[in-house]
Amino acid sequence: MRKNIVAGNWKMNNGLIQTETLISELKQQTKTSNAEVMIAPTFTNLWHAFQSTRQDDIEVVAQNMHFAENGAYTGEVSASMLKSIGIQTVILGHSERRAYFNETDESLAQKVDAALEHDMRIVFCFGEELSDRKSGNEEAVVESQIKKALFHLDASAYKNIVLAYEPVWAIGTGETASPEQAQDMHAFIRKTLESKYGHTIADDMTILYGGSVKPGNAKEIFSKPDVDGGLIGGAALKAEDFYAIVNAF
Ligand code: PEP
Repeated sequence: MRKNIVAGNWKMNNGLIQTETLISELKQQTKTSNAEVMIAPTFTNLWHAFQSTRQDDIEVVAQNMHFAENGAYTGEVSASMLKSIGIQTVILGHSERRAYFNETDESLAQKVDAALEHDMRIVFCFGEELSDRKSGNEEAVVESQIKKALFHLDASAYKNIVLAYEPVWAIGTGETASPEQAQDMHAFIRKTLESKYGHTIADDMTILYGGSVKPGNAKEIFSKPDVDGGLIGGAALKAEDFYAIVNAF
């Protein structure tokens, strides 16, 4: 069943005190939409955020994880470590991870497998660079990212997957894909899934848009039939703005 989701990616922002403050501000907001709400604080604040939101309609999710179970991977965190503190969902493949930490479609496929082995839900991010769009290659790039990281999976895995289309040129830049550009790409993503897994899986897939979504543009973007929610960066750091986006459905 397709769901509406609004997920806030806090990136490398907010220490413990700011995390506490933002969570208490988020709790004061009123949710009027049916969208599921996720927040992704940094690793150091996941446990605290998880504990503080246990009674609330907010899921705390991780921004990343390693594919190995444990071992000599200094600085990394595994799926079982996330699960051990109650985290059920992980964002994988964010463009900043791909650009600054050399994550590839191949290493992401390993992370996807590890998360699924632990029965975690994945918010899987992908999207083209500006140069790809300028050269008219955006669909080919997105199709290749999806195929390389996800097409080895059985159909049954897709109940644990949420897709997030995030054109790199729109992330943190203030530039947003137009609602039509988002709709066209989301429809293309659904068609790509359908070609391999059939209509039901494609139709049931939740596909989020990410890239400078704000209170002022969320409603129009979310009104598109193939856009099921958003992955929000900058605007997720202000409780009022974030809930204005959550309530844009
Ligand atoms: C993101 O980091 O996933 C993102 C969409 O950021 P922003 O909303 O700031 O563009």
